[in-house]
Amino acid sequence: MIPYGRQSINEDDIQAVAEVLRGDWLTTGPTVTAFEDALAELSGATRCVSVTSGTAALHVAYAAAGVGPGDEVVTTPMTFVATASSAVALGARITFVDIEDDTANIDPAAVDAVVSDETRVIAGVDYAGHPIDVDALRPVADRVGALLLEDAAHSIGSTYKGRPVGALADLTTFSFFPTKNMTSAEGGAVATLDPELGRRAHEFHFIGLVRDRDRMRYPDEGPWHQEVHEYGLNYRLPDVLAALGLSQLARLHAFKKRRAEVFARYQEGLAGVDGVRLPVQRPDVDPIWHLYPLRVLDGRRREVFDSMRSDGIGVQVNYLPVYWHPMFEDLGYQRGMCPNAEAFYAEELSLPMHAELTDAQVDQVIDAVRRAVGG
Ligand SMILES: *Cc1c(COP(=O)(O)O)cnc(C)c1O
Repeated sequence: MIPYGRQSINEDDIQAVAEVLRGDWLTTGPTVTAFEDALAELSGATRCVSVTSGTAALHVAYAAAGVGPGDEVVTTPMTFVATASSAVALGARITFVDIEDDTANIDPAAVDAVVSDETRVIAGVDYAGHPIDVDALRPVADRVGALLLEDAAHSIGSTYKGRPVGALADLTTFSFFPTKNMTSAEGGAVATLDPELGRRAHEFHFIGLVRDRDRMRYPDEGPWHQEVHEYGLNYRLPDVLAALGLSQLARLHAFKKRRAEVFARYQEGLAGVDGVRLPVQRPDVDPIWHLYPLRVLDGRRREVFDSMRSDGIGVQVNYLPVYWHPMFEDLGYQRGMCPNAEAFYAEELSLPMHAELTDAQVDQVIDAVRRAVGG
């Protein structure tokens, strides 16, 4: 089976991890700091906080934004459930708005139509690696005093109008799960441009511990003293995994280049095929392609999915509209709310996309698509 996504691990990655295992710091050490600094450098953020997953990154980002009971979070249904469920965990009320037809990203006009003074965060997702339209969303967020969050689980390494993902929104979250663009096995990070949000994110992921004497309520307690002001969790990424992340980060440019080649080969090999619609790239972005989201028309997605799976092609579907999950159904969300997202879901089929795919494998996938839709 050709997997739809997988990691690329080389000897440098293995050595980087082994070196940390032989050293003094398995966690809370210098490799974590080095990884966070390198992430900030790459993403143009002023601060990055590494965490144990992309889901943790979202939880930390919403907590840093101060999301709590009574607050509204406006987001897209075309994402992994964690974009919304991690805000529910903090007591937020989620409003789902529809997506744009070309990119499957959150539609700024739809956001504009629903936001209010209760909106604390507007959370977009760079679906497949294609950045959200930040310049259209920013004035909407500013108008109601909301923060902009970019779930960049798909898009570390992408740029929008020449600016890197990580330097666009108030808070940006990354995932380093093995199928993503780079990996630390499990892992994630929060990037921000705002020192106060960075401090809050760091504290929440570190059990809420305050160790800065200037901020302590009881600064004269003693040299051992640390204190907690607000609830936090332990979401620390260990140095062992940060070493893998740091080593992978050095390879991100090469991963992006190979993913672009695979994308271009699909675009060329599938051009003009009846019964499918190919993904598009807007002129002002340079995405790292995490997914290749083909659209299968005429109600034939399931049939094409089954045919390709039996041909040994590990296709996937990304995503079930979030409010179709029983968790959200049980909260009262009803089908039909976001027709573009539901139509997109009905047609979407993710073809294999990762840096280790060979041209021969890509051609094998293209042939399988042609057979499946032609037959
Ligand atoms: C993968 C993913 C997440 C969650 O990341 P994990 O590291 O798997 O917890 C969140 N949002 C999106 C869009 C994702 O693709």
